[in-house]
Amino acid sequence: MTLLNVENLKVTYATDDEPVHAVNDVSFSIDEGVNYGLAGESGSGKSTVAEALLGLLPGNGTVESGTIEFNGTDLTSLSAAERRDILWEDIAYIPQSAMDSLDPVMSTGDQISQAIHTHRNVSDTKARDRVRELFEIVGLDPDRIDDYPHEFSGGMRQRVTIAMALALEPDLIIADEPTTGLDVIVQDKIIDKILEIQERMDSSLLLITHEIGVIAETCDDLSILYGGKVMEQGSVDNVLVNPTNPYTMGLKNSFPEIEENEDPVTIPGSPPNLNGEPTACVFEDRCPFATEECGESHPDLVDLPNRNHRSACHRVKEAAQLRRDADDPAT
Ligand code: ATP
Ligand code: MG
Repeated sequence: MTLLNVENLKVTYATDDEPVHAVNDVSFSIDEGVNYGLAGESGSGKSTVAEALLGLLPGNGTVESGTIEFNGTDLTSLSAAERRDILWEDIAYIPQSAMDSLDPVMSTGDQISQAIHTHRNVSDTKARDRVRELFEIVGLDPDRIDDYPHEFSGGMRQRVTIAMALALEPDLIIADEPTTGLDVIVQDKIIDKILEIQERMDSSLLLITHEIGVIAETCDDLSILYGGKVMEQGSVDNVLVNPTNPYTMGLKNSFPEIEENEDPVTIPGSPPNLNGEPTACVFEDRCPFATEECGESHPDLVDLPNRNHRSACHRVKEAAQLRRDADDPAT
């Protein structure tokens, strides 16, 4: 069963200059119980996708077109209030930098209780019991629910935000860079915790991160975003083992934990200008394999012969050769 289906989503931000096309024709769907990864460099549009889903875009952001169906309901047709209800009841959101946005003058337990009271008619004692239980689930000491955010380490504050997001047992957990800024050991623990909870609650996960190594370890399917476009999409096995898009190949080489015994090589160049519709492949000026055609139009995302694999690249038919060239530093 499809839980979330996003089709042809376009989001722009108004600026003093031309509008920024932050998300440009993005489609993907997440089945029940599936862990889905959204990857891409900084500025590729990952957070914008999440905020558009949840109706949380900043004031200058607009969903220009597209549909977002959750459990069969088109979220874009709902009022802000209806969407907020769905958000808290069914979708848990751990925003980027969540751990830094906890209220410094309210105890962590009170912040979670408040979230529960807003949506459930329960006594203070019941809410506090639930907070203790949630602390236990995320691996925090339940005797510390009266502690303030500054009394916790970064990793522990992130556990608090996860506890808050889980308060109402969601069908879908959206976590935006949940481990960025934490040290590696804490990162692993947080990811393990999210996976354990996701399994226990039988919910689906949309994991947003620029670290494709984390997605390789935790997700079933993924989309690779660049310049607001889906460059490659499908199962983790297809996309990360046999990438067909030079952007994915470049990203993979910049995460040596996937390619054993290799030094990280970042992709040279900087992200594209998002003002206006692209008149070339968005990756053209950084792509080592770009041809004339690549400068003329952005390629469509097309189905590849193997199941659950799509790629947007004019040279997709030569993918195997491009992969060999990309792996060979002499070329
Ligand atoms: P990061 O990995 O840094 O979190 P991201 O993939 O989440 O990046 P977004 O935050 O979605 O990227 O941004 C996508 C594009 O939209 C970027 O070019 C960014 O500069 C632009 N952008 C984001 N928010 C706004 C805004 N409020 N107004 C104008 N442009 C914006
Ligand atoms: Mg972001």
